[in-house]
Amino acid sequence: MGDGKACGKACQFIAPDYDALEQRVHGRNATGQGDEAYFGVTHAMHRARLDRPLDGAQWTGVTTALAAALLSSGAVTAVLSVAPDPFDRWKPVPVIVTDPAALESVRGMRMGWAPTLALLEPAAQAGHRRIALIGIPCQVHALRALEAELGFERIFVIGTPCSDNTTTENFHKFLGLIDPKPETISYLEFRADYRVELRFDDGRRPRLVPFLKLPLSRLPADFFPTTCKTCVDYTNRLADVTVGYMGGDGDQWVIARNARGAEMLAMLGDRLVTRPLTDKGRRRAAVRGFLANTERAAGGLPLRRMPDWVRPIVAFLQPRIGPRGIEFARARVEMKAIETVLHLRRGFPARIKNMVPRHVWALVAPYGLEPATTEQRQQDGSDT
Ligand SMILES: Cc1cc2nc3c(=O)[nH]c(=O)nc-3n(C[C@H](O)[C@H](O)[C@H](O)COP(=O)(O)OP(=O)(O)OC[C@H]3O[C@@H](n4cnc5c(N)ncnc54)[C@H](O)[C@@H]3O)c2cc1C
Repeated sequence: MGDGKACGKACQFIAPDYDALEQRVHGRNATGQGDEAYFGVTHAMHRARLDRPLDGAQWTGVTTALAAALLSSGAVTAVLSVAPDPFDRWKPVPVIVTDPAALESVRGMRMGWAPTLALLEPAAQAGHRRIALIGIPCQVHALRALEAELGFERIFVIGTPCSDNTTTENFHKFLGLIDPKPETISYLEFRADYRVELRFDDGRRPRLVPFLKLPLSRLPADFFPTTCKTCVDYTNRLADVTVGYMGGDGDQWVIARNARGAEMLAMLGDRLVTRPLTDKGRRRAAVRGFLANTERAAGGLPLRRMPDWVRPIVAFLQPRIGPRGIEFARARVEMKAIETVLHLRRGFPARIKNMVPRHVWALVAPYGLEPATTEQRQQDGSDT
């Protein structure tokens, strides 16, 4: 593309226009009622898993299976995604995949940013007219903002939620803090039961580490970049289908956002096994506690830490009495929105009016965070 203006329009962290993009992609805006207020435009939401989980997948491989179905059926001729770097399995490297069998090599989660959209031009030059992209929300926002100018006949978008990302280098430091043999960690996931799961390739059994026992205080303040700390789209609102785990209560959590997303899921047929969504516990106190701690951290004050002897007790109780299923997903989405507003207020107050869309203000309102006049964008999109 080589066009600086296009970058300004594409970047989610400058002046995203979710209302206009949702209208274009889904034909309507999120209603602001019920769960659409939290998760965005929803055609159908499922707790789901593949009947036979795919080896090497992050969860059961719904994401990979969707991409494979699109390729096998001829609906697309190329899938843009990320593969592990041959010398560093945690580093994402953009790839164009044309053979469904080759998708095996892109399964699983890596930490870091890959310039996947830089493959759009080579894909077009190679003659691909119908493509799919697997991406995290900031990548999908950029794709949607530029989509109309790209000239593809059809672009199917499979999105995953994303809470936080960091550089692959930083991630290696984190791995070094949580295990004495970090080079043997082959899998890591922040699960919805408040534990991090680690798997190893040296024959050790998987480990589950409660969130509360993670060495987060030993991470540098800039471990997560400002972009992630101020992200306004946890759930990948502009994807055709979002595939995550947050609301899945141990299974995957899938949101078809429009008819195209629903058609893609239908391609999996009986392989996609669904169960009723769960919705347990109450999130308000946990989210309020998060708000208080984030205010202190954003103000440069030390966090109120739990005494060490309390940690195992809370770590034991959290998965049992904490919010679960959809309530857990709501809690995480609200926490992320709070983090965005507080970090922007502290570090980049002038950016708030352009960067924070109305769906984020609606999420933080119940916690007493309201936009000041200078923080509001006018209806016509111009500055106040
Ligand atoms: C940085 C990051 C943070 C995430 N945070 C959350 C979260 O908070 N809540 C939640 O529900 N889900 C989150 N996810 C998504 C989750 O980890 C799973 O990817 C998702 O549930 C799909 O599982 P699966 O078995 O269907 O995926 P698979 O079939 O294994 O496919 C995973 C796909 O993700 C792609 N991918 C892997 N790493 C990256 C990357 N760094 N950038 C772009 N694409 C990548 C792979 O290329 C592959 O196509 C996150 C993903 C990433 C990359």
